[in-house]
Amino acid sequence: MIANPMPVLPAAELAGFVSVLAETETRVLVGSVVDMAGVARAKTVPAGRAAAFHVAGMGASPTWNVFCIDNTIAFTDRLGVVGDLRLRADLAALRVLGDGYAWAPAEFFTQDGDPVAGCARGRLRELQARAEAAGLSMLAGSELEFVLTDADGGAPFGRQWQAYGLGAVFDVEELIAELAVEFASAGLPVEQVHAEYGSGQYEVSIAPAEPLQAADHVVLGRLVIGRVARRHGLKVSFSPLPFAGGAGNGAHLHLSFAGDGVPLLSGGTGPHGLTERGQAALAGILAGLPELLAVFAGSVLSASRLRPGLWSGAFACWGLENREAALRLVAATGGNPSGASIELKCIDPSANPYLAVATMLGLALDGMERSAVLPAEITSNPLGAEGTLRLADNQADVLDAFGSSALARRLLGEEIVEALLAVRRHEQHTYADPTLGEITERFRFAWSC
Ligand code: GLU
Ligand code: MG
Repeated sequence: MIANPMPVLPAAELAGFVSVLAETETRVLVGSVVDMAGVARAKTVPAGRAAAFHVAGMGASPTWNVFCIDNTIAFTDRLGVVGDLRLRADLAALRVLGDGYAWAPAEFFTQDGDPVAGCARGRLRELQARAEAAGLSMLAGSELEFVLTDADGGAPFGRQWQAYGLGAVFDVEELIAELAVEFASAGLPVEQVHAEYGSGQYEVSIAPAEPLQAADHVVLGRLVIGRVARRHGLKVSFSPLPFAGGAGNGAHLHLSFAGDGVPLLSGGTGPHGLTERGQAALAGILAGLPELLAVFAGSVLSASRLRPGLWSGAFACWGLENREAALRLVAATGGNPSGASIELKCIDPSANPYLAVATMLGLALDGMERSAVLPAEITSNPLGAEGTLRLADNQADVLDAFGSSALARRLLGEEIVEALLAVRRHEQHTYADPTLGEITERFRFAWSC
C-alpha cells in the first residue's frame, strides 16, 4: 500500500487547470505512465475530459506495468487478464505543448480510488514525502543523451561525425532552435544542448528540480525532442546502445541533498567538503548500486553500454570528477553555480525515471539512517585500480542480484520488484540468441516518445 497518494484537487484548483486548457486552445490531453521496461504508455482524451481524467481516471488493464519492449505481456501471478485499474492524470503537473496538445503524468489507482502498490510514480511520491518528513530534501536533474537518425533509422549526416563539434550543431541548427523554444513553452528548464561524442548523438541537460518533477522532466524532455524531430523527418533513439559498436546513450542523474535546507554535499569537514550526512547518503547509494542496478541499467542492451572506457560509469566506486566511476562527485566551485552534486553515471534511458529517482532517494535515506561509512574515493581510472568492483557485465547477473535483494523489496515493494523482474527476464530469455547488431536494430526506438 502506498502512503501519501495523489490527492484529488479541490474543485477551485481543478477549475483553474481546466480554464488553462481552454485559454490555450488545448484540444487534447495526453496522460502517460512509464512501465517497468522504461517505455512511456499513454491515454488520450478530448480536453473537455481533463477533470474526469484527474478525478475518476481512465481505464487501463493491470498488465500496463508489465508490457515489454517488444509489447509482449509478462504476466505474473499478481498481474493477469482479469481486473481493471484507473490512470489518474496529475493536473498539478500539467504542461501545455502547443498545437492543441497538453500533457500530464498519470498514476495507477484501483477502481475504488486506492493507490496501486506497483505504481512507480506513486512510490516516488511516497518516498519524497518520507524524506521530507525526515528533513531531507533532494534535487535531481537528468542529462538526456540521444542519437538522431534519418527516417529509416540510419545515420542522417553525410560526413564523418564531429564529437562535440560546432559543425554538428549547425547541421541541425533549425531543430536545435526549435527545441529551445519548445522546451521553454512547455516549462522545461533546460540548461544546455550540445553535440555528444557518439555519431549523431546530442545531449540536453535539464536543471535540478524536486524528485517527482525531475522524473516528469525526463518524460517531458523526450516527448518534446520526439515531436520536434518528427517535424524534421528525423527519428530519435533513446536506446542504451543505438548501434552495435557505437557510443551508448546515458541518462545521467545529478543529485544534491540538503538537510533542513542546509547542503549536505558541501561545507562539511569530509573529503571535498562532504558533510557527515552527505557521506552517509553517498555511501548508502554506493553500497546499494550492485543490488539495484536492474533499476538503472537492467535492459537487454544495458550491459553492452556499461563497459570500461565509455564514460558510462561501469565501476561501483566514487571519485571527484571521475568519469569512469558510477558516482562522479561534482564539487561546489565557482564554475558550478548549482552547488555540489553527485552524478549517477551508470544509468541509461531504459530505466523508469520514477523508479530510478525513488531508488536514489531511498538509498540515500537508507545510508543516512544507518550512518553508512563512505569508502575511499578512486582518484584514477578504476580499470585496474586495486579493489574496485566492476558492475555486473551481463543482464542475467544484474537481474539475479536484484531478485535476491531484500533492500530492493524494502525500498520499492514486492509488487514493483516482481513486475520489473518479469519484464526484464522476458528480454533476457527471448533475446539470448540474436546478435547485438540485431538487438540494437530491433529496439533502436523502443524508448522514444
Ligand atoms: N555516452 C556516455 C554514456 O553512455 C556518457 C558520455 C558523457 O560522459 O557524457 O553514459
Ligand atoms: Mg554526456
